[in-house]
Amino acid sequence: MADHEIPPELAALARRIQSLREEARALGLFAEDRGLLSCPGCGLEEDVTIGGRLITCDGNVAAGDDLGLRFVESPVGDFVCPRCGTLARSEDDLDE
Ligand SMILES: [Zn+2]
Repeated sequence: MADHEIPPELAALARRIQSLREEARALGLFAEDRGLLSCPGCGLEEDVTIGGRLITCDGNVAAGDDLGLRFVESPVGDFVCPRCGTLARSEDDLDE
C-alpha cells in the first residue's frame, strides 16, 4: 500500500462518524450549532445534559429534569417559547 493512499478502513471509519453525527441529531442530541435558548417571559431555559442531550428546564439546571418542551423555530429563524409564546433569547445574543 502506498503512503499517500487513505486506507479503506479509515475511509469506512470516516463514513461511520458522519452517519453517527446524523443519528445523534435524529435522537435529539445537541449539535452545538447555535447558542442555548431561554425565554424572558416565563424563564424556560435550554440546557445540555452530561450525556449531550438537549433538555428544557426552569433554571434548576442541576436537577437535570427535562420538562419535555422544545423551543419552536419560526420560518424566519427565530425561536419561540413553547409554553408562553414569547420570543426566545439565544445565549449568543447576550454578548451583543
Ligand atoms: Zn416562555
